[in-house]
Amino acid sequence: MNDKVILKINNLHKYFGELEVLKGIDLDVYEGEVISIIGGSGSGKSTLLRCINGLERKNKGDIVFEGKKVKRDFTKLRERIGMVFQHFYLFPHKKIIDNITLGPRVVKHTAKDEAKNQGIKLLEKVGLEDKADVYPAMLSGGQKQRVAIARALAMNPDIMLFDEPTSALDPELVGEVLQVIQQLAKEGMTMLIVTHEMGFAREVSDRVIFVSEGQIAEMGTPEEIFEAPKDENLKRFIQSIY
Ligand code: ADP
Ligand code: MG
Repeated sequence: MNDKVILKINNLHKYFGELEVLKGIDLDVYEGEVISIIGGSGSGKSTLLRCINGLERKNKGDIVFEGKKVKRDFTKLRERIGMVFQHFYLFPHKKIIDNITLGPRVVKHTAKDEAKNQGIKLLEKVGLEDKADVYPAMLSGGQKQRVAIARALAMNPDIMLFDEPTSALDPELVGEVLQVIQQLAKEGMTMLIVTHEMGFAREVSDRVIFVSEGQIAEMGTPEEIFEAPKDENLKRFIQSIY
């Protein structure tokens, strides 16, 4: 982590109809920083990530990426920000390698061989080089999620967003996915991770954010958040988890 702010979120508001889901989020993300986002169901965690990469349109506030305010150019931004979802969303009728090379081929017009070579390297990185030519249905949930991570990395993003990447997995498959994310952290990838894996959040994060009712109710180091929580809702949340 260094002292360059790569992503700045200023006074972000999001409504779904009458419902105000994000009520003024402010956050500076430093290059190489790992931030875990914790909070109860319905507090706005997914909406926050989705607004950051433009999957949801914000209603108010600014997103500043690498010093430039993002206006209508969310398509460009999405190439720089990778996202991994709870439910993988691999293309079922495409081989694993083709799932990974599709983005670079279509969006970046990367040559076929080059995209494939990169894809194989990424599969090696997530420990699945032997699965290049099989279809998603032949993989376990943990393997599918590792492919989804490789697919996001294929676009060579500056930031990775993870929305509960292990919540849909059987318990014995959680570790293999967390290990891949941990490796990315070691390599200096900037990441925002929504997770209920508190042990993992504690270990991997530079900062932890507690979201409650659409606001950042508390933000601090893992020690501050888990050992000495101040916000009453955070105290209750931590007690409910352990
Ligand atoms: P979390 O990820 O913390 O569980 P979400 O960001 O998914 O919370 O949701 C926050 C609130 O916004 C919830 O009340 C949810 O029902 C609502 N919400 C989320 N997505 C939509 C949508 N597309 N349309 C209407 N309401 C939504
Ligand atoms: Mg969510």
